[in-house]
Amino acid sequence: ARLANQIAAGEVVERPASVVKELIENSLDAGATRIEIDIEKGGAKCIRIKDNGKGVSKDQLTLALSRHATSKISHLDDLEAIVSLGFRGEALASISSVSRLTFTSKPSDQDQAWQAVAEGRDMQVNIQPAAHPQGTTVEVLDLFFNTPARRRFLKTEKTEFQHIDELIRRIALSSFEIGFVLKHNGKIIRQYRAAQTPAQIDKRLAAICSESFVKSALSFKSEESDGEASPLKISGWISDRLSPRLLGDVQYCYINGRMIRDKLVNHAIKQAYARLLPEGQFPGYVIYINCPADQVDVNVHPSKHEVRFHQARWVHDYIVSTLATTLSSDDA
Ligand code: ADP
Ligand code: MG
Repeated sequence: ARLANQIAAGEVVERPASVVKELIENSLDAGATRIEIDIEKGGAKCIRIKDNGKGVSKDQLTLALSRHATSKISHLDDLEAIVSLGFRGEALASISSVSRLTFTSKPSDQDQAWQAVAEGRDMQVNIQPAAHPQGTTVEVLDLFFNTPARRRFLKTEKTEFQHIDELIRRIALSSFEIGFVLKHNGKIIRQYRAAQTPAQIDKRLAAICSESFVKSALSFKSEESDGEASPLKISGWISDRLSPRLLGDVQYCYINGRMIRDKLVNHAIKQAYARLLPEGQFPGYVIYINCPADQVDVNVHPSKHEVRFHQARWVHDYIVSTLATTLSSDDA
């Protein structure tokens, strides 16, 4: 079982930031409202994610660490409609096959917390009582300790931490209502308080995208057309008044809650701005697109940064027209 898990880990677990991503997605799936991320030595030594989500009961712990046990892709139809953030059902098993992973959890209806560890060639899961408030802590020590080639492939502590930091920024920009704390080697690096009011949201936006972006950005939201709600919804902020140095740093796009980098979306934004921007300049933006799950493939690429729209032209034109409306109302 360990070998099969390691093969799977080759696709899922590229570097410490990929581990952090999977673990945070699990915390979000569990309904956490507060997530603490503790990193040591760029994640090579320790990645610890603590949440206040619904937890896992003692009798489900073994299952949670077992490969394929929880796969939600049971038949092909489901591939068409993957909206849930986690879907492979093997992240924990994969990560635990290439690290020393402990999973400690307490659901609200259980008095005692339990800790699970998968060990040995067969990844036998052992559980024992532990102390933990409601929620879950996953600790990943010595990532890739048993896959030396992969361990060597890790970049410097600083670089690996930068990847994690950027990931947290992306996630914090798509989950305003969740509080995040990010520590590196015991020091608090980022602290994003749960944001609900417009002022709180602006504060988080400024912390992630800079004050100047918040000051200059126009917020937009697609309107209903002819009283009919479009199945496609887009909203966000866009600005062309950033210093060129900052522009590239503020280009975030999410489809159904997932961060993506997409040529089609980039092209649409460029086109909407075509008459306003000097050659070679590009706007800063944070844009959220929501569309029916059966209109978009999110599994085109294992890293999931690329997507494929079934009606690409429609999506493209919708983005252009929404942004163009925003920009022209600003001129007026
Ligand atoms: P998936 O998320 O695709 O189901 P994972 O291997 O990432 O697969 O997680 C396996 C299972 O463990 C999840 O389905 C969930 O039931 C449980 N789990 C993992 N992390 C958490 C968490 N932080 N809080 C509650 N349950 C969790
Ligand atoms: Mg998962």
